[in-house]
Amino acid sequence: MSTSSAKSFKRYTVTSALPYANGPLHIGHMAGVYVPADIYVRYLRLKGRDVVFIGGSDEHGVPITIKARQEKTSPQAIVDRYHKLNKESFERFGISFDVYSRTSAPIHHETASAFFRKLYDQGRFVEKETEQYYDEEARQFLADRYITGTCPHCGFEKAYGDQCEHCGTSLSPTDLINPRSVLSGNQPVMKKTRHWYLPLDQYEPMLRKWILEGHRHDWKPNVYGQCKSWIDQGLQPRAVTRDLDWGVKVPVEGTDGKVLYVWFDAPIGYISATREWGEARGVDWEKYWKDPESRLVHFIGKDNIVFHCIIFPIMMHAEGSYILPDNVPANEFLNLEGDKISTSRNWAVWLHEYLDEFPGKQDVLRYVLTAAAPETKDNDFTWKDFQARNNSELLAIFGNFVNRTLVLTHKYFGGKVPAVEASSGFMPEDRAALEALAGFPAKIETALEHFRFREALGEMMNLARLGNKYLTDAEPWKLFKEDPVRVQTILNVSLQICASLSMLAEPFLPFTANRLRNMIRLGDVSWDKAGSPDLLSGGHEIDQPGLLFERIEDEQVARQVHKLLETRNANQETTEAAPLKAGISYEDFARMDIRVATVLEAEKVPKTKKLIKLRVDTGVDQRTLVSGIAGVYEPENLVGRKVIVLANLQAKTIKGIQSHGMVLMAENHDGDLAFVVPEKDFPNGSMIS
Ligand SMILES: [Zn+2]
Repeated sequence: MSTSSAKSFKRYTVTSALPYANGPLHIGHMAGVYVPADIYVRYLRLKGRDVVFIGGSDEHGVPITIKARQEKTSPQAIVDRYHKLNKESFERFGISFDVYSRTSAPIHHETASAFFRKLYDQGRFVEKETEQYYDEEARQFLADRYITGTCPHCGFEKAYGDQCEHCGTSLSPTDLINPRSVLSGNQPVMKKTRHWYLPLDQYEPMLRKWILEGHRHDWKPNVYGQCKSWIDQGLQPRAVTRDLDWGVKVPVEGTDGKVLYVWFDAPIGYISATREWGEARGVDWEKYWKDPESRLVHFIGKDNIVFHCIIFPIMMHAEGSYILPDNVPANEFLNLEGDKISTSRNWAVWLHEYLDEFPGKQDVLRYVLTAAAPETKDNDFTWKDFQARNNSELLAIFGNFVNRTLVLTHKYFGGKVPAVEASSGFMPEDRAALEALAGFPAKIETALEHFRFREALGEMMNLARLGNKYLTDAEPWKLFKEDPVRVQTILNVSLQICASLSMLAEPFLPFTANRLRNMIRLGDVSWDKAGSPDLLSGGHEIDQPGLLFERIEDEQVARQVHKLLETRNANQETTEAAPLKAGISYEDFARMDIRVATVLEAEKVPKTKKLIKLRVDTGVDQRTLVSGIAGVYEPENLVGRKVIVLANLQAKTIKGIQSHGMVLMAENHDGDLAFVVPEKDFPNGSMIS
């Protein structure tokens, strides 16, 4: 297999998604992006590689301006609050950024502006005049989210200009019936405006060659698959500028009131941050972004794949002097206790709250989030699992092994590393343990080089397991009286394993690894020395042992579960059932022809978020209909499924597709959907009455 990790790179530029500065960080962010990025970077540093680790806040965009309006404050005040909170949370959690910058910083405005200007001067943009909604009273053009009106598809009265939250259809503001400006409540008027577009479609051949041919084997299948589907669907020119007063001003004369779209300026934030870091240290930052011998790696969640694998690379390619990412190891999503993490419903474990409520237990969360990382599919975090992994893995294996080794060294040898006596030497079990020890760094390394962090963590724990078993089997506490020389060897081997653990655990459990190194007074740390049988020489004095992990009690976990339960109850209280509709006669009901049917085919409707085109067999006929269920169901899981169809609903054209009827669904207050199905397996065509 050809993988780019086999290539040797001179230096590494590692970015992690810039969190949007309108809310705090939660465990989903950590598991998906920041913990794996930090593990990778810490490993590279231990290998002695030249690496810069980039983070920062994404501070532009419409949602921040909307939040500022709601709180009657300025967008800057909003981003100041969350930038500070998130930066501190990252620091306390041990995410080892070399720089944590922000996109409202002047250096970013300057960098993003120059980037735009270069593309503009090279003629890379297409200029278009369009008509857009304008609020005459507020005297500004309206972003899509600043316009509400009635959805033409489902009649929902509070649809936004970009999407109907009710039926999920993507909209343009001009699709809305009776549009209103959020700013003044008035009906907006159409007014001409001029914008620049990046013609993404022109770069399709480049993307096919670079991703579909070039990264078929080394990118994760979920990432590669998403890219392929985007490219195969066909890319559209994308507006780079917009009418808004919060963002990076468009550096072209006569463009007052226009800024760069946040999708364009945010990824340039990685570059500005690197520049800020380099200029502060007198380091040539440009080689981290422009030298082909630099490896650029973006850590992101799956919702960001298109921006980091397609759009940002097109921007850099068009600019001409930048390298493209060598890998984008995006993760899937982490759920919490079986439910999607949701900021608006407060269904999350917030990082800053965890840090306050579990002081000194950063590594426990890092461990659990890595062990349960959503690397290849969505995964679930539960407090029970958190407790079990702490108590029966970290404490019972890693902690127990280290503690017994250090306590016995103090008890029998006054805290000095006992030497292996030449006369007695190694027994076969010692040799086996040392040989296994020597193999661990390479195993962990291979997994890390391929972004398989769960596997790497598992191998690190296997080393602790090996040490724990070796010590338990050797039973030095039974031998000391009769054969102290044998015990010297056993503890020497155990201490060598502890020393290697203190290095190999560093990327995953940096606080623990550091405490362990202090206990055994091991100064020098390097990945390539790990696995050696002589990291600690005979007579080396070690410190008093302390506990690396504490038991997590049932009450602590119960408190967290209770907190979530309260959130769940609060969510239910605030969401009352919808009021009853006006009464109807039996005849009204009897006019509806409702049937059992089976899905024959299902495919997503292009350029919509939630629509799926279905072919169903109603027992009477086969027909096509469109259903807004793509956010909840994957098309491939629908084929063969029994559904209930309102069959005599008037046909309607939705996104150019004639839809004949409607699939009946139950919907809860979160917008989650469930099929309504007969309790027994009934044949197609069965009537509902
Ligand atoms: Zn709608």
